[in-house]
Amino acid sequence: METSREWELKAACRWEDPDIWFSKATWTKAKRICNQVCPVREECLEAILARESLTADTYRVGIVAGLTGAQRAKLHAAGRAPKKKATPKPPGPGRPRAECGTKSAYERHRRNGEPIDQACRDANAQAGREYRRTGSTKVPAPC
Ligand code: SF4
Ligand SMILES: [Zn+2]
Repeated sequence: METSREWELKAACRWEDPDIWFSKATWTKAKRICNQVCPVREECLEAILARESLTADTYRVGIVAGLTGAQRAKLHAAGRAPKKKATPKPPGPGRPRAECGTKSAYERHRRNGEPIDQACRDANAQAGREYRRTGSTKVPAPC
């Protein structure tokens, strides 16, 4: 189990213009990123349902976890019990399978419940150090 909000470091929306999630003109794009790219959609959904549980429906704005405010309100009203395990998605075109020894591969191992090799552990630790140092998880490409 990951501690609190560590998952946010893996959020696909970290690397995108936040307006995409708030302008109706780009909702389709936002939903695609949430549903097809983001590795932490389930964690995101848990968090937003919890955060919005005391929110009036009109304040559920933008796309979060691939859902509109109305869709989240509906889930909330239906008393959605969270904690559903994310189904690993097969890598599709435009999302090549990361090689071992990268943070992406580390995350894939975790998502899929695979054993994590040392190269991937090291890459993840390096990314963590990089994040603490620079505030970004983007690790420069190896030479
Ligand atoms: S699922 Fe949540 S964390 Fe992932 S891209 Fe969408 S809004 Fe961001
Ligand atoms: Zn690996």
